Amino acid sequence: MSARLETLRRRLSATAGDEQVDGLLVSSADNRRYLSGFTGSAGFLIITGQEAILLTDFRYVEQATAQAPHFTVAKIEATAWPALAAELKRLRHRRIGFESENLTVDSHRRLLEALRESGAEVELVPRRGFVEEQRQAKDAREVELIRRAVELADRAFETVAARLRPGVTEREVAWRLEVYMRERGASEVSFPIIVAAGPNGAMPHHRPTDRPIERGEPIVIDMGCRLNGYCSDMTRTITLGEPDAQFWRIYDIVLRAQQACEDGLKAGILGRDADGLARDVIKAAGYVDQFGHGTGHGVGLAVHEHPWLSHTRGDMPLREGAVVTVEPGIYLPGWGGIRIEDMVVVGPARGLILTTAHKQPVV
Ligand code: ZN
Ligand code: ZN
Repeated sequence: MSARLETLRRRLSATAGDEQVDGLLVSSADNRRYLSGFTGSAGFLIITGQEAILLTDFRYVEQATAQAPHFTVAKIEATAWPALAAELKRLRHRRIGFESENLTVDSHRRLLEALRESGAEVELVPRRGFVEEQRQAKDAREVELIRRAVELADRAFETVAARLRPGVTEREVAWRLEVYMRERGASEVSFPIIVAAGPNGAMPHHRPTDRPIERGEPIVIDMGCRLNGYCSDMTRTITLGEPDAQFWRIYDIVLRAQQACEDGLKAGILGRDADGLARDVIKAAGYVDQFGHGTGHGVGLAVHEHPWLSHTRGDMPLREGAVVTVEPGIYLPGWGGIRIEDMVVVGPARGLILTTAHKQPVV
């Protein structure tokens, strides 16, 4: 954690102009954990060139002291704003960055009021994605933790899928997958599991229903778990029994799109261009309007995080060590959908694929 703190301090001291800040107030739970090691559900970090302070309430003081050895732990009341303002005043800095994607409008207003009442001359400067940008490139230990979460989801998928028979409901499949992962150490699913059979598969974020799955229809299964804090996310599309000719045609396009993107995931490529590698294949096949979402996203402590492989918001270059999903899909209303999703580490020359679950769709 101390290396992460030093990196953050170096980046803070390199800020200039309108972006210049003397320190950062961290309110996001994932960023708090990333920088300090503290896994509790409440608290703030204040990080400046000299100080690293973790403010939390009495429920967590003991835990925070044990988990965050590089931070000075300060106990505050649950209604934290006056205490937080007092701490910022004590530090005598003029400009403190805050996480504008995380701190609510209401919290921001209360903190400003508390600062005014305390007489502190502190300006709060909005910073978007400052810690998230640093979180993008994973170190070897993080990649290993992510790989384990990927492996557990892969095993759950392969074990459960092999035993599916027509007549099983979407909800039942989702539950079996969740039980498998929870029984083997996952603290939770990283998002509600999607099982979308037949026409339901045309909705990329369909929630499982009691609809029995029929022979030969496409079944989109999108799932992942959280293990030791880190997330996994994968999708496979399968069928119970032989599918129709359309299935094979669409499956082949989606698979080729995924391959093209995974092969091109080298450090420095813009998220938008990485998205384009997959999108161009689908476009050439005539289905670009049926692929309405981005090609992928970062995964780490959060299941959706920077960077974005997206034609609309992929304006950042992918850094070496970033772990991202590659998940092109084609969705045909009335028929269903096909999506295939792997997790990939961005490498110096190409992507290293973490997901090992097979891509033979017929069960
Ligand atoms: Zn997914
Ligand atoms: Zn995903």
